[in-house]
Amino acid sequence: MSDIKTIDALDARGKRVLVRVDFNVPVKDGAVTDDTRIRAALPTIQKLADDGARVILMSHLGRPSGTGFEEAFTLRPAALRLAELLGKPVAFAADTVGEDAQAKAAALRDGDVLLLENLRFDKREKKNDPGFCEELAALGEAYVNDAFGTAHRAHASTAGVAALLPAYAGYLMEREVGTLSGMLEQPKRPFVAILGGSKVSDKIKVIDALIDKCDTLIIGGGMCFTFLLAQGLSVGTSLKEDEWVERAGEMLAKARERGVELLLPTDVVCADRFAEDAATKEVPVDAIPADMMGLDIGAGTAARYADAIGKAATVFWNGPMGVFEMDAFAAGTKAVAEAVADNEAADTIIGGGDSVAAVNKFGLADKMTFISTGGGASMELVQGEALPGVEALR
Ligand code: ADP
Ligand code: MG
Repeated sequence: MSDIKTIDALDARGKRVLVRVDFNVPVKDGAVTDDTRIRAALPTIQKLADDGARVILMSHLGRPSGTGFEEAFTLRPAALRLAELLGKPVAFAADTVGEDAQAKAAALRDGDVLLLENLRFDKREKKNDPGFCEELAALGEAYVNDAFGTAHRAHASTAGVAALLPAYAGYLMEREVGTLSGMLEQPKRPFVAILGGSKVSDKIKVIDALIDKCDTLIIGGGMCFTFLLAQGLSVGTSLKEDEWVERAGEMLAKARERGVELLLPTDVVCADRFAEDAATKEVPVDAIPADMMGLDIGAGTAARYADAIGKAATVFWNGPMGVFEMDAFAAGTKAVAEAVADNEAADTIIGGGDSVAAVNKFGLADKMTFISTGGGASMELVQGEALPGVEALR
């Protein structure tokens, strides 16, 4: 991050500053139902407006077809919510680079804020089309990227336009990249990584990269069954990926060679079907019934995991320990979330959409050191991949 300029180095007064934010928020009946991402961008927007910039915000929302305006994906509700949060009017352009955007950008006074319509109404956005980049760049005099959540995409607004204007990182981008890179490069030890979620195939690169960095790797969630298979156990009807058993075995061997302690469940909560009201049974991992599926880690496992988490100086957690969306299978995820929250001395970093949802569900978000707003982007960063949206700022 040290070679990237942040907005602290930008003399913004009187300048039209084009800011890529991540306002990809859920909307229902014309209103934003979760404004977490809008709130996350406030420090940057506020700072620029306070400095007298003419702030021009751009974002995508959802997956429109790229053939022009679609009511279901308009950013207008985000402009309304932002105005409430800022306590002042936010102008909204009915297009992205067209006549209305140009006129409204030109009409801005110092400290004003404008939000452009959904970038992805134009199919050139995702193609990083040079012409579209130029049309975007023509709206501003400086460019800021605060959209960490889309930093893993090389689109016009996240990558191409950065080459055409003086480019800076916003505060959210700075904090996300700084925290996650700092954790990988200089973690306080012991560094305990917790991985769960559904599939090994989704997370194999993260597992592989974290074994190089951490002291203890805790595995739960649906992915643990492929690891249990690699140890020669039977997993009944649990989620499993037969094609990934060999890779899982390689990860177990790699952890052993590197002296990384790898923890797997010793007991699981099994269900006779994937349903909240299923018949359940807690069993040791070597006694999973052939006709049942594991949907959560067992109480013994949760206690072992909590113990390891309590000894950590750095914790990174991605992926729930079970099907936490159903109360019957939420106990393991809750126990782990509480153990992370209770370790107040440690740096505790949460990444991944569903893990963050779990932490919020249990009301523990305030007790974590850092909650990443970027699901895919944070995973790619942890995997050691360069993020186009970050590289473009160098
Ligand atoms: P994240 O979004 O935090 O990266 P993932 O998307 O990888 O997490 O996985 C989250 C999903 O994994 C949740 O919807 C959860 O229900 C599911 N899951 C967790 N444990 C199991 C399990 N034992 N069997 C099936 N699905 C599971
Ligand atoms: Mg997910």
